[in-house]
Amino acid sequence: MAQVSLKQVRKAYGGTVAVHGVDLEIGDGEFVVFLGPSGCGKSTTLRMIAGLEEITSGTIEIGGRDVTRLEPKDRNIAMVFQNYALYPHKTIYENLAFGLRMRKMDRDEIDRRVKAASVMLGLDPYLERKPKQLSGGQMQRVALGRALVRNPQVFLLDEPLSNLDAKLRVRMREEIARLHQEVGTSMVYVTHDQVEAMTLANRIVIMKDGHVQQVGAPLEVYDRP
Ligand code: ADP
Ligand code: ADP
Repeated sequence: MAQVSLKQVRKAYGGTVAVHGVDLEIGDGEFVVFLGPSGCGKSTTLRMIAGLEEITSGTIEIGGRDVTRLEPKDRNIAMVFQNYALYPHKTIYENLAFGLRMRKMDRDEIDRRVKAASVMLGLDPYLERKPKQLSGGQMQRVALGRALVRNPQVFLLDEPLSNLDAKLRVRMREEIARLHQEVGTSMVYVTHDQVEAMTLANRIVIMKDGHVQQVGAPLEVYDRP
């Protein structure tokens, strides 16, 4: 069964159609990258999958269940944003734990998950620091960690590396690839960067003007990187 399934998904803002009837099936463990220029509808599509944006028409299912019928707390998805969205006054530990505390998860289980995620992301030396004491790459790791502790069925990543400098972008790209291999969860990733798409994706979805223009493995979509 597809982990995420989009059927004729369409989004209009008033008279402007941002996404025209997207059909796509994302398999369990698959890494799918939406690639295209700014304004082509990638982020709107991702936000509809996340339940952050109403779907004008069509349906989106996650794990076989219609997202519009799922309570936010029952949506087992986690999204990583470009701007990290960390709480500035909380420690890194508390930033990682916060979403789980809101869900009233058991303290020991929270602690176990926070420790496991911080080891996986190399954040264990920084758990008592505040976000402003971290570098951009470390903050991006915290943002990934906050998604990871939720044990999501699906990770959604919206241009997660675009605030990093070129060198760090390459390093974090490798780290995201490694994370995907380790957790084996479906990932849906939005970018305008062709190299990111080529190196991370199992499948690339090229969007243009709100339409899916092409879908294929990296080497089917581009004959050379
Ligand atoms: P991308 O992520 O590919 O840059 P978006 O999904 O953000 O593109 O935007 C697709 C189109 O929808 C653009 O034309 C954008 O201006 C429009 N759009 C996005 N969000 C809104 C909004 N809240 N209100 C009106 N138009 C929007
Ligand atoms: P908070 O967002 O305040 O940390 P919760 O984790 O309980 O508290 O989340 C509140 C709402 O925000 C829920 O609908 C949840 O699904 C959503 N949410 C929280 N964190 C994320 C995330 N990383 N990705 C996607 N949705 C999230």
